[in-house]
Amino acid sequence: MEKIKMVTPIVEMDGDEMTRILWKWIKEILIEPFVDLKTEYYDLGLPERDKTDDKVTTDSAKATLKYGVAVKCATITPNKQRVEEYNLKKMYKSPNGTIRAILDGTVFRAPILVDGITPYIPTWKKPIVIARHAYGDIYKAVDGLAGNGKVELHFTDRNGNPAVIPVHDFDGDGVVMAMHNTDKSIKSFARSCFNYALDLKMPLWFSTKDTISKVYDGNFKAIFNEVYETEYKDKFESAGIEYMYTLIDDVVARIVRSEGGIVWACKNYDGDVMSDMVATAYGSLAMMTSVLVSPDGIYEYEAAHGTVTRHYYKYIKGEETSTNPVATIFAWSGALRKRGELDNTPDLIDFADRLEKATVSTIESGLMTGDLVGLFKKEGVTPKKLNSQDFLKAIASRI
Ligand code: NAP
Ligand code: MG
Repeated sequence: MEKIKMVTPIVEMDGDEMTRILWKWIKEILIEPFVDLKTEYYDLGLPERDKTDDKVTTDSAKATLKYGVAVKCATITPNKQRVEEYNLKKMYKSPNGTIRAILDGTVFRAPILVDGITPYIPTWKKPIVIARHAYGDIYKAVDGLAGNGKVELHFTDRNGNPAVIPVHDFDGDGVVMAMHNTDKSIKSFARSCFNYALDLKMPLWFSTKDTISKVYDGNFKAIFNEVYETEYKDKFESAGIEYMYTLIDDVVARIVRSEGGIVWACKNYDGDVMSDMVATAYGSLAMMTSVLVSPDGIYEYEAAHGTVTRHYYKYIKGEETSTNPVATIFAWSGALRKRGELDNTPDLIDFADRLEKATVSTIESGLMTGDLVGLFKKEGVTPKKLNSQDFLKAIASRI
């Protein structure tokens, strides 16, 4: 059989621990036998990041700006314990944070749905895709303790004109916080969300609490509205999808009653909380994909889970592991499909579709990794636990 040809390389970002092992197997078993794979390889594994003083991470993000599509393996974000374990020169920042800052992107998380794994909210038949704004608000806030006295915010413009916003006149001890966001970041976020909803042909809902936070959240609402009216309204109408703004509490109620099939754009904190709620409700973090989309249409695909450290320690002791590779497979299929769309290579798009269908149908036939066995309930099918490699081979036989 002749292998599918690629025109432009995908930026490949390798990673750490168990997901690094899965990465190699996925390529060997599921991709390279079918596709003449072209990638520009960057090793984001912790030893190489340390060796290059993290330059490899920046380089991989710059390559993504150049080529437009990347696929990333999960990576360790070092903490104190990791600095000792890997004997690191310093405590490097999260690679995802570094890449996100360079691409100026928004992260969209979407569940992979399989017949037999029912969400905790059984009416959810289609994915709910959460977009989390990744800049500002309480994540860049300053806070402190206040004593008995007056707290004010002082603003001085570039010409030296002052303005004062009274915060609170304290009668006794308390706490204060000041947070900010920028129109530029909110606008980028809005464009990423509108673009991605168009990509998926799914309606976009955006929520804040502008009834209470009239200026701050009101600004988010106004910017989304302006970007929609001036840049996206026609595109949404011709795609037959809607944009809706509503209050966060109203969306929560609507989402629970919905059947899914919605892109839900959230402010930073809302997205932090809601993405964990939605991921858990769909059954498993190992079945959740994540894609970073920049406002000018650059894509980086990955799994939403981490490097699955506990399984890795078992693996290096020579024990058999049954780590779920599905989200990482879908990161690859997402990147291959997007590459195919941009290069106009239908064979590659078709392969991505077949890879995803083969993965889903393998699970639906009862073959799966250990984490899914307890979740799987389908009449007439008894779930069988396979190790990661046998699971990948079962998928390959169905492509
Ligand atoms: P994790 O790697 O997602 O794993 C947490 C637990 O969830 C695992 O121990 C396992 O549970 C289960 N799990 C997650 N993915 C699974 C899979 N594919 N198949 C089967 N089970 C799976 O999170 P963590 O242990 O908090 O973090 C480990 C490392 O990953 C950290 O160094 C962190 O910095 C990094 N991390 C990276 C990213 C990223 O690159 N995007 C994201 C998050 C975390 P059981 O052990 O019960 O089987
Ligand atoms: Mg969270």
